[in-house]
Amino acid sequence: MKAAHGMVVTMHYTLTNDSGDVLDSSREGDPLAYLHGHGNIIPGLEKALEGAIAGHKSKVTVAPAEGYGEKNDELVFEAARDQFPPDMTIALGERVYAEGPQGPISFTIVELTDKGAKLDGNHPLAGQTLHFDVEIVSVREATAEETKHGHVHGEHGHHH
Ligand code: ZN
Repeated sequence: MKAAHGMVVTMHYTLTNDSGDVLDSSREGDPLAYLHGHGNIIPGLEKALEGAIAGHKSKVTVAPAEGYGEKNDELVFEAARDQFPPDMTIALGERVYAEGPQGPISFTIVELTDKGAKLDGNHPLAGQTLHFDVEIVSVREATAEETKHGHVHGEHGHHH
């Protein structure tokens, strides 16, 4: 069976950046299962895996536009200390959640300043070219329920 719209694809992957640093990998644990054609994974990778069969191995390079997007400078700004929840520890790398027009947005504290802190609302991988080393473990048809929900259920998928 081939990876196509409505198929469940299970794969092992290792993700590295331009410098060759490993950012994420499934190799230490269970492979990742996703529902092809439903935007469960980034567009560039989904496109590259179209038609792949079990056993297929490939190296896929994904530009930011097909990955987590370009970095948006408007999402980086300084917030004063009194804009944070009073009980929050303001430290580098801490995450702050705010209610946005399209649901919650998460910001990461990227710099401590005299007034408060600089926040970055970009995805941590925004603006980065991503390098995937992928091996397809299996391809199967999705169940009716999975198709309805738009994601994979079961062992390596969604639990609810
Ligand atoms: Zn579901």
